[in-house]
Amino acid sequence: MVVVKTSYEDMFEKSKYIWINGEFVEWDKARVHIASHALHYGSGVFEGIRAYRTHDGRTAVFRLREHIERFFDSTKVYMMDIEEDAGFTQEQIVDAVKETIRRNELEQCYIRPLAFRDYIEEGDRWGYLGVSPIKNKVSVAIITFKWKMYLAPKLKLLTVPYRRPPLDALPMLSKATGHYLNSQLARMYVDIIQQHFKRSGVLKEDEALEALMIDSRGYVSEGSGENVFIVKKGKLYTPPLTASILRGITRESIIELAKDLGYTVIERDISISEVYTADECFMTGTAAEIKPILEVDFRKIGNGDIGPITRVLQEKFREIVTGKLKEYEKWLEYV
Ligand code: PMP
Repeated sequence: MVVVKTSYEDMFEKSKYIWINGEFVEWDKARVHIASHALHYGSGVFEGIRAYRTHDGRTAVFRLREHIERFFDSTKVYMMDIEEDAGFTQEQIVDAVKETIRRNELEQCYIRPLAFRDYIEEGDRWGYLGVSPIKNKVSVAIITFKWKMYLAPKLKLLTVPYRRPPLDALPMLSKATGHYLNSQLARMYVDIIQQHFKRSGVLKEDEALEALMIDSRGYVSEGSGENVFIVKKGKLYTPPLTASILRGITRESIIELAKDLGYTVIERDISISEVYTADECFMTGTAAEIKPILEVDFRKIGNGDIGPITRVLQEKFREIVTGKLKEYEKWLEYV
C-alpha cells in the first residue's frame, strides 16, 4: 500500500478541554467506547467552524449560528434530536462553543461539533449494535483546537473516479460522518498523486491538489470538502443544492457578498467542459476559505493564476472575517 508520509507540522495542537454532553473533559480523557454505534456505521453528524482573531484583537466565530443551525438540520435528517435526546437547544450549543473557546484560551481556532450515536448501558446489558441506530443514545461533543489549515494557497483540481452519491441514495445536505467515506476515497486518490507531483516538481511549494467530484448525473458537484464556483464573462456560476453538494456556509456567504458587490451569481448545473473553459475558478469552505484554482484536469484556467474577481472576493472575505467591514459584522459572533 502506498503510504503518504505524516509530517509533524500538519498535525494539530491538543487543547485542554473538550465539551462532552455538557461537561468539560480533559483532552486525554475524552474517549468513547469501542462498541459505540457511530464507530461501526458512520452514524454521526458534525460541523466545521472557524474562529478568527479580529483586527482589534478580539476573537470572533464566523457565522456560528448558521453552522449550529445546519448542525441541527443534519441531525434531523438522521433522526437524532439533540434537544430531545441529548437535552441541548441550539442556543445552548452556541453558548457551549463560545465557552469551550474561552476555557481553552484560544485566540483563533477550528471548531468541531459532533453528534453521534453512542451506546446505552444497563447493568451487564449493552446498547444496540444492529444497523438501526434509533435506540442508541445521542451524544454531543465540541472540540476546539489550533489548526494550520491544510490547503496550500493555490489549488489544482483533478476529477476523480468516485461520483458524489445521488440524493436518493444519501441525503448529502446532511453533514454526516458516514458521507465522508466518499470524500475520503477522493482525497486518498489525490493525496497519492500529489505526493508524486510534489517530488517531481509538477506542483510548486504553494500549490496543492484537490479532488473535483462529479455527481451521479455527470454534472460538477464539489470538492472533497469545498464548494466550487466558476466565473465566465464576469458572471459567477455555482452548482445547485440538487448536485449532491453540501450547503456550504462559505458558499452562501460568497453568493451574498458577490451580489452585494454587483456581480450576477447563477446557481445551475455546470458541466466539466464549462469548468475547463471558465475565465476563473475558485473553491470555498471553512478550512479552504476562498482558494483560486489554477488548473483543472491539466487545463489551465484563465491565465493559470488567481483571477481578478477571485482576488476581490478573497480580499473582501479576509476583511469580513477579521471584523474590518461593519456591514458584515452580522456574520461574526464575538466570544
Ligand atoms: N462541501 C463539503 C463536502 C464539505 O465538507 C465542506 C466543508 N464543511 C464544504 C463543502 C464547504 O462548506 P462550508 O463553507 O460550510 O465549510
